[in-house]
Amino acid sequence: MIRLEPLAAPQRRALDLIKEVAAEKNLRAFLVGGPVRDLLLGRAVIDLDFTLEEGGSALARGIAKRINGRVRSYPQFLTYKVTAEAFPDIDIATARSERYRQPGALPSVSAGSLVDDLTRRDFSINAIALDIVSGELYDPTGGLPDVENKRIRVLHDASFADDPTRIFRAIRLATRLGFSIEAHTAERMREAIQSGALETVSKERLWRELFLAFEEENVPDVVEALNRAGALDVLIGHREIQRARLDAVHDVVRSNPSLDREVLYLSAIVFGDASPVDLEGSGLAQKRLRVVVQIANEIPRYTDALNEAETDHQRFKLLKHASPELLALLPIDPVTKFRDFLKFQIPLRGSDLEVPSGPHIAQALERTREAVFTGEITPDDARTFAREMAIKYLGKSDSG
Ligand code: ATP
Ligand code: MG
Repeated sequence: MIRLEPLAAPQRRALDLIKEVAAEKNLRAFLVGGPVRDLLLGRAVIDLDFTLEEGGSALARGIAKRINGRVRSYPQFLTYKVTAEAFPDIDIATARSERYRQPGALPSVSAGSLVDDLTRRDFSINAIALDIVSGELYDPTGGLPDVENKRIRVLHDASFADDPTRIFRAIRLATRLGFSIEAHTAERMREAIQSGALETVSKERLWRELFLAFEEENVPDVVEALNRAGALDVLIGHREIQRARLDAVHDVVRSNPSLDREVLYLSAIVFGDASPVDLEGSGLAQKRLRVVVQIANEIPRYTDALNEAETDHQRFKLLKHASPELLALLPIDPVTKFRDFLKFQIPLRGSDLEVPSGPHIAQALERTREAVFTGEITPDDARTFAREMAIKYLGKSDSG
């Protein structure tokens, strides 16, 4: 019997309900793929995916009725999604068989048996089904011993050629679970990479696979393994990736989840030699691309300049145009001080200065804020100082 303890309480309630509805309607519903693998390993489950040979739509509607939810149907994928408040999203698919007419292209899909559905999958550990009513496991490809022995194994020799994104999936999963890639599978993977299989897939799909790697717990290990296998060469050319850079980014991402992790990891990957052309197909907007390139190419320059700067005024000037991601990777002392400076306020407004309005006012207030913060002047002198500055800037803008 498979143990259901790793399920979160809402997932457990959802599973119980689906079981009830399936039993009531006399439908054979299977939990398949990732959740079965994770339950067998005693790991937390991310998504609950179900497959039926028949009756997917009846099951989806039956569940939705019980929980006041809604059903969305995706006919091209033979799937339904049930969503309701305070209920995990449930994916229900019709068992299907797949045929790869051309390596690297998306397969053609048709309805099939449970066994068809399991044997079209990527790895044996992802090809186990659990009959949720009877509790019986279906394992036509020998996934259970592979779970036991912690190995990732493809189901046939052409698997990586058919769908080279499985190369990324294998490496991601192996790292996440601490599994090895079984020897014959590893050999097929090397062959596929060497024969250019990844070039048959669109760059967009490959970038998406790399971005999924950035969601893993141990990104540096995944990225390193992908690069060692040569899987990143088609995206960014063959390059050395510095482990120390990946680790530094990893620490920053962990301590500040609001930062743009994709930008940060990419910058570590293309560190030292980045151009927007390298990131073609990544789908990153111009602004984010610029940050990647800025970090990858300019950290040494920034660090040197910060070390050489003699005053806070010079340091702040350098840091003013840095993105939060770049800031997070620069030496801590000046950045901490700069952050305090960003929050620092003085009780002075433009109207206090009694000079004609214009952009020189904001400029003078900013200069004054900095002067008070760094101790160049006392707070009591702020108004006089700001007025002087405003007049000076006004004079400059008149003449220039
Ligand atoms: P995760 O925990 O990352 O979600 P997962 O195994 O559930 O892992 P999904 O991407 O959610 O991965 O895919 C669900 C299932 O679909 C997999 O377990 C696998 O059986 C199958 N699958 C996904 N991608 C492929 C693929 N490229 N080729 C064949 N089968 C695939
Ligand atoms: Mg999943």
